[in-house]
Amino acid sequence: ALVIIDDCINCDVCEPECPNSAISPGDEIYEIDPTLCTECVGHYDEPQCQNVCPVDCIELDPEHKESKEELMEKYTIITSAA
Ligand code: SF4
Ligand code: SF4
Repeated sequence: ALVIIDDCINCDVCEPECPNSAISPGDEIYEIDPTLCTECVGHYDEPQCQNVCPVDCIELDPEHKESKEELMEKYTIITSAA
């Protein structure tokens, strides 16, 4: 999963781009739900939120490192539950 760091300016540009609805406004900055973020695996070649963030404050979450296979599995679970 990816994580939004403190540089976030709450611009809301990333939220509508997420195919998994993993992004939401948090108490202070926007947040990514690591159980929903597939790093866009299954949907796109690149993380869409990273592409649009004007201040480049979205990074790989060191606490939620996943392989491509694990991300694909998450994608399958999320999409079949929807
Ligand atoms: Fe959503 Fe993709 Fe960003 Fe993860 S990487 S939060 S799935 S847009
Ligand atoms: Fe924050 Fe970047 Fe999302 Fe804007 S696009 S809300 S700065 S994470």
